[in-house]
Amino acid sequence: MADASAECNIKVLCRFRPLNQSEIIRGDKFIPLFQGDDTVSIAGKSYVFDRVFPTNTTQEQVYNTCAKQIVKDVLGGYNGTIFAYGQTSSGKTHTMEGKLHDPHGMGIIPRIAEDIFNHIFAMDENLEFHIKVCTLLTTLSVLTKTNLAVHEDKNRVPYVKGCTERFVSSPEEVMDVIDEGKANRHVAVTNMNEHSSRSHSIFLINIKQEHVETEQKLCGKLYLVDLAGSEKVSKTGAEGAVLDEAKNINKSLSSLGNVISALAEGTKTHVPYRDSKMTRILQDSLGGNCRTTMFICCSPSSYNDQETKSTLMFGQRAK
Ligand code: ADP
Ligand code: MG
Repeated sequence: MADASAECNIKVLCRFRPLNQSEIIRGDKFIPLFQGDDTVSIAGKSYVFDRVFPTNTTQEQVYNTCAKQIVKDVLGGYNGTIFAYGQTSSGKTHTMEGKLHDPHGMGIIPRIAEDIFNHIFAMDENLEFHIKVCTLLTTLSVLTKTNLAVHEDKNRVPYVKGCTERFVSSPEEVMDVIDEGKANRHVAVTNMNEHSSRSHSIFLINIKQEHVETEQKLCGKLYLVDLAGSEKVSKTGAEGAVLDEAKNINKSLSSLGNVISALAEGTKTHVPYRDSKMTRILQDSLGGNCRTTMFICCSPSSYNDQETKSTLMFGQRAK
């Protein structure tokens, strides 16, 4: 059983992507100034995180610095959450998924899939593993269509009804589930108005192990969350279901911020998990004994400076 350590297990990491071609052509300026391993400053204001990754950081460096240990912890019976926050096109999906089938371009999720199975093959043969994965998409439209509702089981552990779980026995099978999730998302998004394509995507890896002789059991689960873009939705053109969806996303992001900030402050009395569906889903994998890592993803372009500042401020609330 995991020990009840009092240390704060929330890590906030900040990653800047490079300027892209159209930003260079437009003549945008590269605004972040990186200082040491943990500080970035913008327009003279410094922001300190557990770690700051400048634009040339490789996927492997990101993984080794902050996700590798979480895999060990989850195999040791802890729960965890890794999520990526930032405006659209800031590098969230690049960080979480990257190029799924490319050894250099792979992001955190495919590396975790490989790492889990590497660990398992090296472990005690008397341990039997059951690994389940599941992808969840949460746009309002998808939520209402398939009616994904949050329930609690008899141990008060939240679960999502309507999310199909699949047992996997190799990293390739994990990738298949991700590919299918992406295909489903593509269908869902093209069926929607283009303004309503913002969604959170949540990938859950559940690991149960049992010793064949002693029957001793150990469970850990890891949520990997690629959050919907954090940019403010322009009021023009947004109406009806699209506006409702935008409000819903803004609400879930702000309640996530409130939960993380309450956890970081060490507020034991009230952590507002119940304020949004997403924080209810993640409840038993955030804070406390859990391993929580938040990636703050940023654009380096002067064109995005306002969004970048508010993204950095969001990350600072968790410190
Ligand atoms: P988001 O998911 O936040 O909307 P993406 O991850 O899709 O953003 O990134 C937008 C574009 O920028 C993609 O083409 C992606 O490949 C590229 N990109 C993002 N981060 C990096 C990075 N650190 N290095 C190189 N390219 C990146
Ligand atoms: Mg994305």
